Amino acid sequence: MNCYRHQSIPAVGLCKTCFKAVCPECAADVGNGLACKGACEEKVLELNEMWDRSAKIYGVGKHKSRIPSSGVLLWLLLSCAFWFVFGYNYYRSDEIDYGTLAMAIVFTAGLGIAYFSARRTGLKC
Ligand SMILES: [Zn+2]
Ligand SMILES: [Zn+2]
Repeated sequence: MNCYRHQSIPAVGLCKTCFKAVCPECAADVGNGLACKGACEEKVLELNEMWDRSAKIYGVGKHKSRIPSSGVLLWLLLSCAFWFVFGYNYYRSDEIDYGTLAMAIVFTAGLGIAYFSARRTGLKC
């Protein structure tokens, strides 16, 4: 296979985004692949960054971890805070603060949903 721009020069590889054959003169090394110099270079770098980010989001590869996702932790923290405020108000005034109670229930429900959806999809965000 020869370079798509220089028909007489053998290609060294394929561009990562447009899959055209490129010769050493036309190829730009982007770390884990080749790109058309000037044309696809930027796109490949963007793609690499996107893959890296989605790897982080989906918790795969080197980013895999057993730590609960920050979303679940946030819900946990908020529900705890509202349950605490509710308990504290109830203890002090002996009256049920329905506003805080409702918030506490909402955040606890959110925690449950976040936890189970995180477990189902393995999503880490
Ligand atoms: Zn290209
Ligand atoms: Zn070329």
